[in-house]
Amino acid sequence: MTRSLELRPRQRIRRTLLLVSLLAFPVTLYYFSPALIIMAGIQGVINGSFVVFAAMFVLSPLLGRLFCGYLCPAGGLQDCVATITTARPRQGRRNYIKYGIWGVWITAVVLVYALIDGHPRLDVLYETEHGVSVMAPQSYIVYYGIVLLIVVPSLIGGRRTFCHYLCWMAPFMVLGTKLGRRLRVPGVRILATPDRCRACATCNSACPMGIDVRAAVQTGGIFDAECIQCGSCVDVCPAQVLSYRMKGGTAGGQRTQTGLRDPRLVKP
Ligand code: SF4
Ligand code: SF4
Repeated sequence: MTRSLELRPRQRIRRTLLLVSLLAFPVTLYYFSPALIIMAGIQGVINGSFVVFAAMFVLSPLLGRLFCGYLCPAGGLQDCVATITTARPRQGRRNYIKYGIWGVWITAVVLVYALIDGHPRLDVLYETEHGVSVMAPQSYIVYYGIVLLIVVPSLIGGRRTFCHYLCWMAPFMVLGTKLGRRLRVPGVRILATPDRCRACATCNSACPMGIDVRAAVQTGGIFDAECIQCGSCVDVCPAQVLSYRMKGGTAGGQRTQTGLRDPRLVKP
């Protein structure tokens, strides 16, 4: 019998966390801002979004993309949109669009901070009103602009399209996770016992990122960079094929036909 995702306590907690994060978005917006980090750098300031992006990269070898699955306000917003459309966005090369955007942007950030004369000053609350991002009426124009940037692609392209194509935060965690695996840092993984799989594809339907989980299971786990480690596939699987584990390594395996890395081919 198929397990209902709605009944799983972990998924209830996850959705609650995402909803709280979404409701707090007017407060936290500037701490995720790709523009404010450049404005701050020009003024010789290390701002809140600098600290947040650095934390994402530094923690990702351990935590992977758990932030995307459990805490991201943009993720919460897109999961709300998913109640309207459950279409899967086209993937493949399109997923690399965000790396192109990120590459141009991070180059600008590095240049701005490299050109600071003297030591930068730490001001985590930079440009906020006592820590709150959106207070003044004009700030709401920026806020709703960002909301539209997240909502419209998902309405047109399908579930979590913004995460797939546009997110400037995902590359920090993807690169940090890959580096952690390369260095064999123990981190959160979703691993599988392929022999148990009944090939029912219930996991595919549950995956908000449109990953072919059923195929990935045959490689021993989910090693797709698009996986946000939400655990939906873990919780919906009727055969308990998948589970969260703390594990080191898995990078360096050979690519399978699905383009995923096969941990069985990784040297110990
Ligand atoms: S992993 Fe579980 S849900 Fe997915 S195809 Fe196999 S048995 Fe079905
Ligand atoms: S593969 Fe599983 S854990 Fe990863 S995004 Fe899809 S449902 Fe979530």
